[in-house]
Amino acid sequence: MPTPATTLTIDRAALVANWRLLANRAAHRRCAAVVKADGYGLGAVEVAAALFSAGCRQFFVAHLAEGIALRAGLADRFPDAAPMIGILNGPLAGEAAEFAAHRLTPVLNSPEQVADWPADAAAILQIDTGMSRLGLEASEFEAHMPDLRRRNLTLLMSHFACADRPDHPLNRMQIDRFAAALAQLPGVPGSLAASSGIFLEQDAHFDLLRPGYALYGGNPTPERPNPMRPVVHLSTPILQVRTVEAGRPVGYGARWTAKAPARIATVPYGYADGVPRVTEGAAFYLNGHPAPVVGRVSMDLITLDVTALAEAVPGAVLEILGPNRSIDTAGADGGTLGYEILTSIGRRAMRQYIG
Ligand SMILES: *Cc1c(COP(=O)(O)O)cnc(C)c1O
Repeated sequence: MPTPATTLTIDRAALVANWRLLANRAAHRRCAAVVKADGYGLGAVEVAAALFSAGCRQFFVAHLAEGIALRAGLADRFPDAAPMIGILNGPLAGEAAEFAAHRLTPVLNSPEQVADWPADAAAILQIDTGMSRLGLEASEFEAHMPDLRRRNLTLLMSHFACADRPDHPLNRMQIDRFAAALAQLPGVPGSLAASSGIFLEQDAHFDLLRPGYALYGGNPTPERPNPMRPVVHLSTPILQVRTVEAGRPVGYGARWTAKAPARIATVPYGYADGVPRVTEGAAFYLNGHPAPVVGRVSMDLITLDVTALAEAVPGAVLEILGPNRSIDTAGADGGTLGYEILTSIGRRAMRQYIG
């Protein structure tokens, strides 16, 4: 097999350090890991296995199929252990047997899901406290209270809508609503905070933290410096370098024109690999020096201005993501979030794990 041009390197040691940093913010140190969407694109089984080895015992994915694959992957590596795997999107009608067969714990998100779920089988209950996405409404929670108290609920959870904005008034309202609901289910632990919620007040933490993005190095506090370590490094080699005269257009639509003689490098990475097609003002890095992206991003190729970089020769390796270019910066360049950058990294990049 030829080696793919582009390499995504995932630093397990940084991932584990991030999980520990997050867990240590909570007094009780119970911290799950959200590994949905194939571990935010980094490999759910690899990520979960590294965190399991560090002591993580609760994992969340979105779909039943993701849970089945994760259970199998973890059972291969840790045959004697069965960490909790929660399915955030909940069960569809008739799936209870499959959940049981793979020891998966559903998040029940509606009165219908509660009614369909066997009362004695373990389940997580989600209530809506302000996101209006999944979970029982307050009135539904009240109405079903006698039945809910008889159930085998292992966790009550809800999700913040604005936790990345610490001053947003909805945060306090969601914490208060969640605390009031939790008080009605004595003995049931609670979980409200994902990555950004962990950096709100201590009373947002409840019993179990539920981070995803911050584990992978994303900044959970967008208004402040990133406390997390970078986990991903994405690099690609230069295919060609050409010298163009002033006035020469580059790329589709001839939208960029060299103002002076320039050296243009072409790399085998494009929007099919996860760079947003409209990526403004971005630069990739060569030995720590920026090479600005010029011209339109193509499906499989990007052109960069390397006039200032004598080391830019075919085969020289450019950093697309890494210490010089964070996933948050890549998101901002593309008018999106680092979350979307991570989960969009294409299958053509070879994944390699270190640490
Ligand atoms: C995705 C998700 C998380 C993790 O969110 P991050 O912002 O990535 O930390 C936690 N809980 C729920 C319900 C989610 O959907």
